[in-house]
Parts: sequence; C-alpha cells; structure tokens
Amino acid sequence: MPCEGVESGSQRAGTGRFSNASPQAILPRMARTPRIIAEPTTVSLADFDPADTDGWKKTEAKEEIEKLGAQIDELEDLLVYAGKHGLLILVQGLDTSGKGGAIRTVLRFSNAQGSSVATFKEPTEEELAHDFLWRAHQKAPRRGAITFFDRSHYEDVLVVRVNELVPEEVWHTRYDHINNFERLLSESGIIILKFFLHISKDEQGQRLLAREEEVEKAWKLSVGDWKNREHWDEFVTAYEDVLSRCGTPHAPWHIVAADKKWYRDLYMLQTIHAALEAKRAEWMEALEAIGKPRLAELKAYRAKKGQ
Ligand code: AMP
Ligand code: MG
Repeated sequence: MPCEGVESGSQRAGTGRFSNASPQAILPRMARTPRIIAEPTTVSLADFDPADTDGWKKTEAKEEIEKLGAQIDELEDLLVYAGKHGLLILVQGLDTSGKGGAIRTVLRFSNAQGSSVATFKEPTEEELAHDFLWRAHQKAPRRGAITFFDRSHYEDVLVVRVNELVPEEVWHTRYDHINNFERLLSESGIIILKFFLHISKDEQGQRLLAREEEVEKAWKLSVGDWKNREHWDEFVTAYEDVLSRCGTPHAPWHIVAADKKWYRDLYMLQTIHAALEAKRAEWMEALEAIGKPRLAELKAYRAKKGQ
C-alpha cells in the first residue's frame, strides 16, 4: 500500500512480492524501484536491486534534482510559516550507504531557519539511563520545523541487536514502542518519511577502500566499519525485520536503491516533494487565515494615521 501523497507508480511492476500491476506507460516518471512499505509485511532485501536507476540517466536526473529542489524550497517555506506540520526525514543504512551525502543534498534546498540535523551516536551514560526513545523524542521536530535524523531510534533494534548490547527480550519489545512513538508524532502533526539506503556489499567494499586512498576522506573511516561488515548478513536480517514490522501508513519505509548516489538523491527528493505537495492547499489556507487579520489591522492603523 503506497503512502499518502506518493504516487502508486513508485511501486515497480514485475519483481518481488510488492509488485503491483500498475500500467507503467501512463504513470509519470516517478522512481519505481525503491519500494514503499506502509503496512506489516515480510521484506526480503534480495528482492530489491541496489543499483537500479529506474531508467534515469545521470544528466537528466541531475536536472530533475534541481527542479524538485526549487519546489521543495518553496513548499518548506509554506510548512514553516503555516506552522501546522513538522517534517521528520529519517535516514538509515549500513556504513557508507550515503546517509550524510543524501542529507546534504536535501539540505541544499531546505529552509535554513527551519531545518536541523540530529545525529545518533553511541548513547551517552545519561541517554542509557533513560528509555531508548528519550533521546529521539527530544530531537523530533516541532510543528513548523524540519528535522533530519542521521541514524535514529532504529539503531536500538539494529546495531544493538547485532552486537548483542541488550538481551533479545529487551530489543524484541522495541518494534511496538517504535510504532506507537511514530504514531504519536504523526497524530501531533509530524509528517514522517523514513528512508533505508540500500547498497550492495560490493559497493560498500569499494567505498571503504576509496576512503583509505584519500586522506581527505579518511576521517570517515573507523575499524568499526570493517567489523560491522563482517556482520553484513546479520545487519541485513535486522533491517529486514525493521522494514517488515515498522512500515505504517503514517510512517512508511522507503527502500532506496543507493549504489548510485545521484539516483538515491533523486528518489528522496521525489518522495519529499510528493509528501509536501499533498499539503500545499492546506498550508496556503492556513497562511491566508493568518494573513487576513494582519492586513485588516494594517489597514485600520493606516486609516487612523490618515495615510
Ligand atoms: P557515525 O554515524 O558513523 O557517526 O557512527 C555512529 C555510531 O554510533 C555507529 O557505529 C552506530 O552504530 C552507533 N550507534 C548509534 N546509535 C547507537 C545505539 N543506540 N547503541 C549503540 N551504538 C549506536
Ligand atoms: Mg560511520
């Protein structure tokens, strides 16, 4: 089931168990490969090609990115000034999947006053002494703001599970807590878009090696990345459980083919654009409602002053 405001054409007909038979010929050129998971299901990542580009050429995609970016810029202004909704853009993916790069691209077009990035590192002692959602809740956007989550509360069922940082009885209960938390945010006016950046193991190997070759990129390296790579299959299983259990209509997961950085960016911008565009009329109405009494007040003031 596609999420609200996103064309069902973004589901590719053909492969995998999420296929739907939409006649592609009449659909706009939306990204079709990365799937939208908006209800409990069983996800197998092997069904998704990380190198897919949905027929886009890089040069065309780059042009489209600029066009979408300009529109997102305008729509985010409406979001910020209307103050009715917040936007949470949550990005997860294995090491080197491009979380930071993707966020940088979207930020390039984002309202500077209203946007911020929250990163999720190993929890501090203070954070560990609270429930696992405490830090995520604090960082969640208010209405009228846009927040990017670079990693998120999902780490508590990903790295925590794979590295056995808490027992299974503990992490196992967290999917329900996460779904309830995201429902609370959604019912409080927060639009939630969750992106899983799907890269291949080969691509990860190349990116890790490339980082070693350039001193300017070496700051990104850590032995932990190679250690995590040894647990590739366990991370895939952990991600499959997240995608299978935590895709909901109000907080769908998007599986983004991320081997090609430009396609990853294009898909994310298309999705963000569709989600914001769906609210345009509502925000315009809200802004009008704010604007009318202000204009009346100004008119009255001028009249009094005889201007
Ligand atoms: P980076 O995103 O490269 O700056 O790395 C942040 C590191 O913090 C990653 O290795 C994450 O797996 C780790 N991390 C994030 N959240 C948690 C958590 N809840 N428990 C343990 N490690 C975490
Ligand atoms: Mg890293």
